[in-house]
Amino acid sequence: MTAASGVRAAPDPARLSINTATVRAQWTLPEIVDALARHGIRGISPWRDQVARAGLVDSARRIRDAGLFVSGYCRGGMFPAADAAGRRAARDDNRRAVDEALAIGARCLVLVVGGLPKDAAGRPVGRDLAGARAMVRDGIAELLDYAKPAGMPLAIEPLHPMYAADRACVNTLAQANELCDEVAPGDGPSLGVAVDVYHVWWDPQLPREIARAGAAQRLLAYHICDWLVPTTDLLNDRGMMGDGVIDLPAIRAMMEAAGYRGAHEVEIFSGRWWKVPGDDVLATCKARHAGAS
Ligand code: ZN
Repeated sequence: MTAASGVRAAPDPARLSINTATVRAQWTLPEIVDALARHGIRGISPWRDQVARAGLVDSARRIRDAGLFVSGYCRGGMFPAADAAGRRAARDDNRRAVDEALAIGARCLVLVVGGLPKDAAGRPVGRDLAGARAMVRDGIAELLDYAKPAGMPLAIEPLHPMYAADRACVNTLAQANELCDEVAPGDGPSLGVAVDVYHVWWDPQLPREIARAGAAQRLLAYHICDWLVPTTDLLNDRGMMGDGVIDLPAIRAMMEAAGYRGAHEVEIFSGRWWKVPGDDVLATCKARHAGAS
């Protein structure tokens, strides 16, 4: 080991962004915007339900007036459906998500693509995972025809395989890159990927696939948190940076080497952190971004 290895410059604090799910139990969207200004945090990534409650026009104005950049808009996707009517409903809802992302000034619309088709009660229909993936491909292609002329980049977020049935049947960065190449060859910024460390940290192909996405101008978002051992809930037990086993500086170095110069978006769904006062959560996010990311 050389003296230089393992020693990396701290991340630029101006790149820090907070995904609003991180403090959704503590605050409304207007309260989050105020809190970010109070803490000197420059970026935000809002969720649609929070924006809907606060009002789209008012939310956009507040974010603009606070001088925040919008690292992404959460979220579109959920393409597979049991019938044509369901797929049309998904298409229409995704177009609305693009319109909202434009109104809010987002850098990209994040896509969580959906798993197996579900019935009206939300139960999976059938076992055709390949069929679900084909619906995802077709749904993204159709949405891109709407989003690209409007100028809203779409970021496919591969999710950890434990979510393949219910949330996303795109499960590795390689799969997301292949989907991009198939749907939009050579069309980097219009269709790309969101790299969320929680979903991809374990992947032996991660360095290669981050480099591949960067070479194709497809690195649109970078989401950070940590993987706790043990993890006690599949959805809501994400860790704060530095509390788990993900080598965050190493992954950031891969992103930077691949040309990524965008935001570092903290996205922590956590029953533990949702119980902590919001100001303490944001102070900890700032400190851990600087010291453990
Ligand atoms: Zn994410």
